Amino acid sequence: MMFYMPAKVYEEKNAVLNHAGEIKGVGTKALIVTGKNSAKACGALSDITKALSDTPFVVFDEIEENPSIETVMKAREIGVSENVDFVIGIGGGSPMDAAKAIALMICNGERDESLLYDKSAETKALPVVAVPTTCGTGSEVTGASVLTIHEKRTKAGIPHKIFPVLSLVDAKYLRSASLDIIKNTSVDALAHLVESVINSHASPFSLMCAENGLAMWSRVKEPLITGNITDADYDFLMHSSVLAGMAIAHAGTSIPHGLSYAVTYELGVPHGRACGIFLANYLKAARANGLENEVDVVLALLGFSSEDHLSEFMDMLFGKTEISKEILENAALKLSENKAKLAYSPFAVNYEMLCEIAGVGDGSV
Ligand code: NAP
Ligand code: FE
Repeated sequence: MMFYMPAKVYEEKNAVLNHAGEIKGVGTKALIVTGKNSAKACGALSDITKALSDTPFVVFDEIEENPSIETVMKAREIGVSENVDFVIGIGGGSPMDAAKAIALMICNGERDESLLYDKSAETKALPVVAVPTTCGTGSEVTGASVLTIHEKRTKAGIPHKIFPVLSLVDAKYLRSASLDIIKNTSVDALAHLVESVINSHASPFSLMCAENGLAMWSRVKEPLITGNITDADYDFLMHSSVLAGMAIAHAGTSIPHGLSYAVTYELGVPHGRACGIFLANYLKAARANGLENEVDVVLALLGFSSEDHLSEFMDMLFGKTEISKEILENAALKLSENKAKLAYSPFAVNYEMLCEIAGVGDGSV
């Protein structure tokens, strides 16, 4: 067993300002990477610039949702020409993931974008500081960076593992997020928790994070439905997301995430919601393949009586998501060819079973 989580994480009220000295200590000039509005709206950008005080910085605020290779390369140009030596990602998973890829590309100024997916290349990156403003991806505690590859009409994680060196987690930044964003991102965290338990790479260390996270997540079910979210709930949401990130940093994500990418790419369904669509069927498939105990633990920690109960909860949260059979079959086909991703499932899966989990099977498996 191994537990490797090299990000130093502070999770507390006013984490950024409380640890200004450590943030400044990471480098001498920062590239701050954000989306268009939220880093300003939630107050995190202003906290970071205050914390940096006399440390110079440049802001790149053009990261789109599901960041593309093109955007990463555009930010790299700025980082290189401005001679920055560390990168601060503020936002949801999109800016934090982009910050990691940008840190890699700035450090390898002589390489073109092929480096991003070059498995054989050494991973050398500028240090990254992360400030999450959503409660979903856990990117602040993972080495993962997921980018959109327009050429392939999908998204994929880069093979380089780039953990932030420092993560400042403060649930107050969630207050500016709409209920939709909170729902979408919290279900991403839920998917990380469930998929890291029903996972061939699960270990007592990753389960320690996931099981704690599931218990914490169970406390926000009601507020997510009613929309009546208190500061204590924001703390639960943020903390379960951080624990979920630590769990996937070890176990990785499995089938629901694998199926979700094409759905997000083709229909623009937000990442968390897209993963949530497949969770109940994934648990059913796990139960049918000898993982009753694990499935029962997940459901009990969440406070659901069955897979169908979880599925009804998802419908209450989001309503029905209409996805054509063609898109779902295509998602299953793409995933069936991705042997590396399938290896995270603790039971054997083939195209037919993936169709079943995607809800378009013929009942033969
Ligand atoms: P996101 O794409 O970063 O942001 C979604 C939306 O929420 C954007 O419009 C953003 O606005 C807004 N927003 C963010 N924080 C807000 C706040 N506090 N107040 C108001 N609006 C806010 O969402 P995400 O779900 O966190 O990240 C999704 C990405 O992460 C996907 O690309 C996914 O593949 C990836 N991911 C990564 C990991 C990992 O381990 N690294 C794991 C799972 C998923 P702005 O555009 O203005 O910022
Ligand atoms: Fe995710």
